Amino acid sequence: MTENSPIPVTILSGFLGAGKSTLLSHILKHADRRYAVIVNDFGEINIDTELVAEYSCESIDLSNGCICCSVQGSLLSTLNKLKERENPPEYLIIECSGVAEPFNLATVFLGHAIRPHFRLDGILGLADASAFFELNEGEHRELFWNQLGAASFVLLTKTDLVSPEQLRQVREAISQELPKAPTLEVAQGEIPPSLILDSRIFDEVSLPQPSKNLHLGNYQSWNFQTEQPLSISVLQKQVKKLSNHALRLKGVLHVKERPGERALLQVAGRRTSLERLPLVDSQAKISKVVAIGRVGSINTEALQACFEGMIAPS
Ligand SMILES: [Zn+2]
Repeated sequence: MTENSPIPVTILSGFLGAGKSTLLSHILKHADRRYAVIVNDFGEINIDTELVAEYSCESIDLSNGCICCSVQGSLLSTLNKLKERENPPEYLIIECSGVAEPFNLATVFLGHAIRPHFRLDGILGLADASAFFELNEGEHRELFWNQLGAASFVLLTKTDLVSPEQLRQVREAISQELPKAPTLEVAQGEIPPSLILDSRIFDEVSLPQPSKNLHLGNYQSWNFQTEQPLSISVLQKQVKKLSNHALRLKGVLHVKERPGERALLQVAGRRTSLERLPLVDSQAKISKVVAIGRVGSINTEALQACFEGMIAPS
């Protein structure tokens, strides 16, 4: 890259639980250049920066607000700092919060002051194939389609969780709604990064403009943090109940019985999963959990009681 060429930028967008951080991990695992990632979380605690900690990239945490609106100022100052570096990153990936409108974020890169330094390469709109019809018919429909409508590529994720017939129906629904959007399928975040990055696919002219900002004030978050280790047996027992209390929940947990690792807890819709993650030496052993949902849809008292009950007796 010559000194003056703008840094390419890819935006990862998609509704809560679409698989953005799985895809980001996959890209970073196969990194062939110096990436910087900006990870935006709507809640006060950023779980996804914990997840990228094991990869050698620079991660910048923009939490406690949505990158397309409330923390846009912090994004601009982050971009200014990045470009002034002696050794700026070769590629920038921005992972939006699950409620962000990528259109609003894209406009940041169309500004005169930013354009000479950053080139928006593409917007990846992720859609969970297994949750597709629920989102398409539910209360989040408009935001869901606004997110996909701004995408340069639609990435259908979790295709391994649906039947070939369901997948066909999902593809058909997308091509009806977005006839021009190239759609790619991804199972377990596995897609060659070269297919979706540095593609020069972003087209300013075809960027649709949503009529209103749909999420401001519509979503709330709840979070929990503790330095005390959790008990694995209580955790395993409680995990199944969590989806009753929040649409989307994500946590990195430290469990007493497994001191050398972390547990990644995820709730997306009715699906709950608990995975093992390596423990990164430099990280403090703090368990962090964030839940996001429509205002009034998170049972914060139940969640609080649930996680406090998981703390292992010392
Ligand atoms: Zn926003």
